[in-house]
Amino acid sequence: MIDTHSHIYLPDFDKDRLAIIENARNAGVEKILMPNVDGTSIRPMFTVEEMYPGYCYAMMGLHPTSVKGDFEEQLANVKHWLGQRDFIAIGEIGIDLYWDKTWEREQREVFRIQVDWAKERGIPVVIHVRDAFDAVFQELDKVCDDKLKGVFHSFSGNKSQLHKALEYPGFMLGINGIVTFKNAQLDKVLKEADPERLMTETDAPYLAPVPYRGKRNQPAYMKNTLEKLAEIFEVSREEMDAITTRNARQLFAIDH
Ligand SMILES: [Zn+2]
Repeated sequence: MIDTHSHIYLPDFDKDRLAIIENARNAGVEKILMPNVDGTSIRPMFTVEEMYPGYCYAMMGLHPTSVKGDFEEQLANVKHWLGQRDFIAIGEIGIDLYWDKTWEREQREVFRIQVDWAKERGIPVVIHVRDAFDAVFQELDKVCDDKLKGVFHSFSGNKSQLHKALEYPGFMLGINGIVTFKNAQLDKVLKEADPERLMTETDAPYLAPVPYRGKRNQPAYMKNTLEKLAEIFEVSREEMDAITTRNARQLFAIDH
């Protein structure tokens, strides 16, 4: 398994990060991909990457909920780092209108700019969408070309949003613990997707799958999400693992 979205660098894991990484390895997690949030998360993310080389990989990007009054400065910082070294992806970026619509215009602009940076570098985008599928699709339609690839991380949309998302040929859906929540009904939606377009993630420390729902999530818990996916598509857990891991390797160009 590859945990394609994990905030393992957050202070939530400062006391026991070593044990959490051990749990992940023991559960069969081969790699952990770390999305950035904003200027405050870059250093801790780099530190974790240095501590676990070849296991934890950093992305670079500005999260939509961090798009506020200082967004130009924040964006300049992201651009600075993109010029310094390689990253596995631009993320996480996107639009979030759940908490606050005040910065919607700026969120849209920041999203488009970062998608362009991914296109220039030929690396995938990791997209966060919350209460904003229409806005994300609108903006993506303006900048998407046939080479752009990426993932709708933490996908929890309805059937029409699923089909629209999969119309972007280079895109996958990132599935996490939400698929194990009974009230989310995501299993019924996902049945209409081709497993070849799915990847697994945790979004740790958030969104722990059943039976850990409500607790701090960690990469090792991804096996519960994988089991649920195997059940939905009526394949073995090994088969589901092989498919989703291959998809992740392909999207993020991981060849080792
Ligand atoms: Zn995230």
